[in-house]
Amino acid sequence: MSDLIQLLPDAIANQIAAGEVVQRPASALKELLENAIDAGASKIQVIVKEAGKQLIQVVDDGRGMSPTDARMSFERHATSKIRNSQDLFSIRTFGFRGEALASIAAVAQVELKTRQESEELGTLIQIEGSEVKKQEPIATTPGTSVAMKNLFFNVPARRNFLKSNPVEMRHIVEEFQRVALSYPEIAFTLMQNDMELFRLHAGKLSQRVVGLFGKNYQSQLVPCEELTPHVNVKGYIGKPESAKKTRGEQFFFVNNRYIKSSYLHHAVSTAFEGMIQTDQHPFYVLFLEIDPSHIDINVHPTKTEIKFDDERTVYAVVRAAVRQALGAHHVVPSLDFSL
Ligand code: ADP
Ligand code: MG
Repeated sequence: MSDLIQLLPDAIANQIAAGEVVQRPASALKELLENAIDAGASKIQVIVKEAGKQLIQVVDDGRGMSPTDARMSFERHATSKIRNSQDLFSIRTFGFRGEALASIAAVAQVELKTRQESEELGTLIQIEGSEVKKQEPIATTPGTSVAMKNLFFNVPARRNFLKSNPVEMRHIVEEFQRVALSYPEIAFTLMQNDMELFRLHAGKLSQRVVGLFGKNYQSQLVPCEELTPHVNVKGYIGKPESAKKTRGEQFFFVNNRYIKSSYLHHAVSTAFEGMIQTDQHPFYVLFLEIDPSHIDINVHPTKTEIKFDDERTVYAVVRAAVRQALGAHHVVPSLDFSL
């Protein structure tokens, strides 16, 4: 008889888990941005080099971490966001799995600087492939900076699978836009190779849209709002004449999480029927608020799908919201409130 099973060392377990959390630079950026928001940041800076292959750094002015927490944050399943299984049903943060930093540190070289406002000194941690290289006190501003360098430096096969810089950068900008759109009250900047791509001041959603997509949108946004007991819809649609042949400026957020839904996209498209060409796509950024017990948000770190228990109602409300917005702003010649 011989026993063959062994527990994997943490570094290997983390590297395997990283395959799920970190597909590409943009997925790491998503995790780091969500952590900054969970930390209560009011200002977030993103610095990217070589489309994130060389560097993704996120600097926030959030609550920071104690030296012990700073070290703990890289352990797998280590989180400050839930404590028991009950908490799983009332999650108010993006994170709760305690996997992101452990995964990122397993497949990159990470430098964390963090300080709590009440403390005089902060903490510096350098970690590479799950191995802590350095931990020491450091003078730094309150908040947290996480720099992820040389993603997949120790997994050459995955590094080779990264796409060209323009493609990876497009994913980064898309991720940045989604997060920045859903938090107009937070100031954001995005720098790429020392060039400033975005500087977004804290403000209203309409200002955020203009900051992200350009001044042209200033005159193109139509407010959209429909409040029902089941679901609230709020946001903006673009006037029909601003519709484009290319997709990419359509955004749904459910309880402030970005989601993809071809079903709800259809609701918006049909509301625009007759006003835009069939090969054109209207701009929209719509926020749905719904009791979490009516949705099943697939909380897999990279997935953005969602299930509604009553999707036909949600569809109808979204469509009505868009129809009304178009009608109320005399974009539609005759009012049509039919569903
Ligand atoms: P999760 O977000 O699911 O808890 P992470 O691995 O992303 O897991 O982060 C682990 C923990 O590290 C968080 O629960 C939080 O306590 C801490 N943390 C991570 N990023 C930050 C940050 N930017 N500011 C303050 N604390 C942070
Ligand atoms: Mg997280």
